Amino acid sequence: MDKADVISGVRQELADYLRLKSKRITPERNQLLEAIYSVDSAISAEELSEEMSRSSRFRISRATVYNNLKLFEDAGLVRKVFLNGRILYERTDRSKGVIRLICGGCGKTTEMNSDKVRRQIALMPTRRFNATGWVLNMYGLCSRCTADLKRRQNRLNKKHKDKK
Ligand SMILES: [Zn+2]
Repeated sequence: MDKADVISGVRQELADYLRLKSKRITPERNQLLEAIYSVDSAISAEELSEEMSRSSRFRISRATVYNNLKLFEDAGLVRKVFLNGRILYERTDRSKGVIRLICGGCGKTTEMNSDKVRRQIALMPTRRFNATGWVLNMYGLCSRCTADLKRRQNRLNKKHKDKK
């Protein structure tokens, strides 16, 4: 499925949900949902507001962003995640999984894709449970923090040797 299909799909889901709850479908709501589904990683409410004020024709207040994020969450279209002490929001693509690499040093988070892992997880039996998605958090150090750590260790070793 390409991105345009995904977006028109979630727009439809949002429309159905709003109708069910007797709420209005507004262009702002559609734009916000599209913005979340246009990025492949988790995004904070602040980043989303900034993104909206940069790219959107609408002026959307931060309160509106928060209210709508809550609504999307209730509709099952967006998931709230806690990462490195921050609250972020991400799309809940039902079939898709997310693999995250989280650096314990600087907190940098990158996402990667592996069809091999995806296939294995799809094959994993989940008894009495209907899985709708998954997230795999992998912890470690990024290359920059690894290099930093090595430098610091070398310095410590040198100091130790000098003392002898
Ligand atoms: Zn790092």
